[in-house]
Amino acid sequence: MSIDLSKNIKIATKFIHAGAEPDPSTGAIMTPIFQTSTYVQSAPGQHKGYEYARSQNPTRFALESALATIENGKYGLAFGSGVAATDAVIKLLVPGDEVIAGNDMYGGTYRLFTKIFEKFGIKFHYVDTTNPDNITKALNAKTKLIWIETPTNPLMNITDIEAVAAISKKAGTILCVDNTFASPYLQNPLDLGADIVMHSSTKYLGGHSDVIQGALIMNDTALRDQLYFIQKSCGAVPGPFDCFLVLRGIKTLHVRMKAHCENGIVVANYLRNHPKVDKVYWCGFEDHPGYAIAKKQMRGFGGMLSFTLKDPSIEAATKVLSGTKIFSLAESLGGVESLINHPASMTHASIPREERLKYGLTDGLIRLSIGIEDADDLVEDLKQAMER
Ligand SMILES: *Cc1c(COP(=O)(O)O)cnc(C)c1O
Repeated sequence: MSIDLSKNIKIATKFIHAGAEPDPSTGAIMTPIFQTSTYVQSAPGQHKGYEYARSQNPTRFALESALATIENGKYGLAFGSGVAATDAVIKLLVPGDEVIAGNDMYGGTYRLFTKIFEKFGIKFHYVDTTNPDNITKALNAKTKLIWIETPTNPLMNITDIEAVAAISKKAGTILCVDNTFASPYLQNPLDLGADIVMHSSTKYLGGHSDVIQGALIMNDTALRDQLYFIQKSCGAVPGPFDCFLVLRGIKTLHVRMKAHCENGIVVANYLRNHPKVDKVYWCGFEDHPGYAIAKKQMRGFGGMLSFTLKDPSIEAATKVLSGTKIFSLAESLGGVESLINHPASMTHASIPREERLKYGLTDGLIRLSIGIEDADDLVEDLKQAMER
């Protein structure tokens, strides 16, 4: 008997059992890695629902079912990377369509929009979505999609998903929320009225810095059919082994996220009281402008934060960035190990300097992905790096 996960089941049970059905041929409790490109048919057109692995793969289907379950959605689709998932969403549009997007978001999303899709005649407006009125002002008859990220990467700005969903519904546009930073443990945008949730599964869903993958989750069947058509026609599907890794990651998502949140609180407070630190960007501080909304739409504040030093020079930031021993200097986030990053030269280097300075992504900004090591060790590591 399998568990009915649509019932009022608690998050820990849901994450562990999402997508998991014993393999019908052997009873294997873990979904096998179906490392195959094709499936044998008994007569032309007579098959078991599997024809060719770009369109159908049982390991991927198990993961896609898990993705839907953990985001409280009906359908999940897995992609070869987070940007491939984003790419699929933009391919819903046609030349002349317009998109309203946040002005503080993942650098690779901005690059995809400006460097790839603008040349196909899609127009993007970047606004500060922390004030939803800015979205209303940018709307026009050509707007087809609203794209938001909350909390944002790297400044941890918060956008009210429910408020934006109401605007989107009224305007008849699609709202897609990049939920990578919060993860489904902390926030479920579909419950708040979003049409599509996007994840870089590379981050918290995988959780072990060993896979590149993306996801889309939705409730609307027509939208699912269009996105599935794009997934199989454009072909950015993940391989079965990578699907297995993300399925496995999801089973411990709640345990890891709880630890990320606990360590986040300790590190955020330590940095805030450090004499050399100017500003800590973390949505768990009561005086953070998005605190009330974060409290309303999230179940915790996560393990991501950014900070600046009182000395705003790149040199001062570089000393800290290259001085940590437990925090590794690297792009990416959401793994069990702690990472330190310099957005201006690393993750967000594809955003022109004058553009990023406009919204506060300064040269000296340091971003942390706080892992699940011992919090005292993490604080000690930052302490010695700041004393350099
Ligand atoms: C990493 C990231 C992406 C892109 O995902 P990839 O898996 O690297 O392609 C998109 N959005 C956010 C918020 C990210 O952190």
